[in-house]
Amino acid sequence: MTLTELLSNAKHAVVLTGAGISTLSGIPDFRGVGGLYTRTDIDANKLFDLDYFMKDPSYYYKHSKDFLYNLDEKEPNLVHTTLARLENEGVIHAVITQNIDLLHQKAGSRKVLELHGSPMLHHCLRCGKSWTFDEIAPRVRAGEVPVCDKCGGIVKPDIVFFGESLPERALAESEREARSADLMLVLGTSLTVYPAAALPEVTLQSGGNIAIINRDPTHLDRYACWVGRDLKQEMEDLSL
Ligand code: ZN
Repeated sequence: MTLTELLSNAKHAVVLTGAGISTLSGIPDFRGVGGLYTRTDIDANKLFDLDYFMKDPSYYYKHSKDFLYNLDEKEPNLVHTTLARLENEGVIHAVITQNIDLLHQKAGSRKVLELHGSPMLHHCLRCGKSWTFDEIAPRVRAGEVPVCDKCGGIVKPDIVFFGESLPERALAESEREARSADLMLVLGTSLTVYPAAALPEVTLQSGGNIAIINRDPTHLDRYACWVGRDLKQEMEDLSL
């Protein structure tokens, strides 16, 4: 069976995406070549550590300015636009993503569940005042460490840091989608980060199928009804 046939036969298809789909947009996979974890000038564990951030937010803002606060320059690629089109045509129900790059929304996807949060909003940790990405990004790019103008509190992006729990609503809704899905399409994730990696297992346990497209093998490949390696090629071949 082809991926096209699998999708058109599904009654409730959902998609889980990871960093592998955004490398085509020039956003390095944190763990891949050129990614955050391979850079010697940045300590990635410190960068997204909540305790460290509370002590010294400047480390985060200084080091994320060239890969997070330039996201408005990045464009969705074929994977994002295909998923947006499939949602529009009623073929897929929701996109669950581990990414924090806002590209699904930019491509036109409407139901996007962001498991690791989003830099779309920033909040003051003391008084709760919020700012949009567009308000904060130019300031960060200019070298500023944003501080709340109302109370002087620390301003934090709504990205999930180490030491924080995942956004409850997004997680609960993702689990619901995973349970209801008769097909989960898993794209560009190595399925190593939990609890996101558990979602395809929820679909399998509920009697659904999973299809995986990822550059490297994953531990769930042998349970998948369909496995591919080349995201770009598979998206081009989709004839829905
Ligand atoms: Zn404040």
